[in-house]
Amino acid sequence: MVDFLEKIESLKGYLSGGCKNIAIVTHTNPDGDAIGSSLAWAKVLRDMGHEVHTLVPNRYPAFLDWMDGIGEMVVAKEQPEVATEIIAAAELVFVMDLNKIDRLDSMTEPLMASEAPHILIDHHLMPPDDYSLQFSYPEMCSTAFVTYKIIEAMVGTEAITTEMAENLYAGIMTDTGNFAFSYLTPDLMRSVAVLLERGLEIPKVYNAVYNSYSASRVKLLGYSLGKKMEVLAKGKAAYMSLTEKEMRRYNFQLGDSEGFVNYPLSIAGMKMSAIFIETRKFVRVSLRSRGDEVDVNLFARRYFGGGGHKNAAGGKSFVSIDETIEIYKKAVIEYFKENGI
Ligand code: 5GP
Ligand code: MN
Repeated sequence: MVDFLEKIESLKGYLSGGCKNIAIVTHTNPDGDAIGSSLAWAKVLRDMGHEVHTLVPNRYPAFLDWMDGIGEMVVAKEQPEVATEIIAAAELVFVMDLNKIDRLDSMTEPLMASEAPHILIDHHLMPPDDYSLQFSYPEMCSTAFVTYKIIEAMVGTEAITTEMAENLYAGIMTDTGNFAFSYLTPDLMRSVAVLLERGLEIPKVYNAVYNSYSASRVKLLGYSLGKKMEVLAKGKAAYMSLTEKEMRRYNFQLGDSEGFVNYPLSIAGMKMSAIFIETRKFVRVSLRSRGDEVDVNLFARRYFGGGGHKNAAGGKSFVSIDETIEIYKKAVIEYFKENGI
């Protein structure tokens, strides 16, 4: 706690001295936590008088369209020059919700070139330690919660508007699987209570995020589970895969496969689940586990050049989807054997 308060003092130092030009960046395939924490933090900084730009490497899924301030986000893939200029001009950069700088795609290079202080706000395991200041709390459920704690300590929760409360809650809700995963602490629940006091309406955010799918997305889920789910390792591991062709058949839109990977974990005795999504350049790997036995952060680092959290991680595979599946099957056997599962 002392450490945290010292960091807050240091943060205040970085923000002192009048209006600063600030950039906030977050990871590729931004999720509710990445966007929710970035937008809420941007609002706090703007209210303090700073000029703030928010950036994402690629487009966010449509189920986040409702979020306050999302229209102002610069999508680097669509406006690469604008993104590079903003990063080059920033006097201070906040990096949100990511552990590896290479998760910034085309923004990685401009960011490496920038000489401004870089401040990390994050909850991933094993972050690099080369930031000017880092708020890195892997024991917290989401970057949105870390952001909440910073706001609370720096300016007080009265500074939280209803829109900010919604954005923060969206990050907390999505990263905890609607309060189903680990890291659900009394302190987190007290914070949610404060967000309610600040005007948050939980059903509104829940419906905006989880009940706003297209019919084709729901059919694609049915297809994935009905036709593509395979169970292995005596019912302790599962996987699904989707090729570009299959996704086209269901009029796939960005974000449509979000959450699919969780469904196999509803099978009794299941320890881990994976989904492999084919894209033009690589196969996107998403991994989930339940309990302490399978650490998918370690699994993703070892077999798919990725990382994340103990129960939710991801990576990339640069071979075909069939070869990726073979790698996964062998990896499961190896990992389960090593860990006596
Ligand atoms: P998702 O499966 O939802 O795409 O990702 C789950 C978590 O895994 C994310 O919160 C992120 O922490 C991590 N993750 C996903 N993809 C990658 C990746 O390519 N590299 C790293 N380092 N982490 C990833
Ligand atoms: Mn997160």
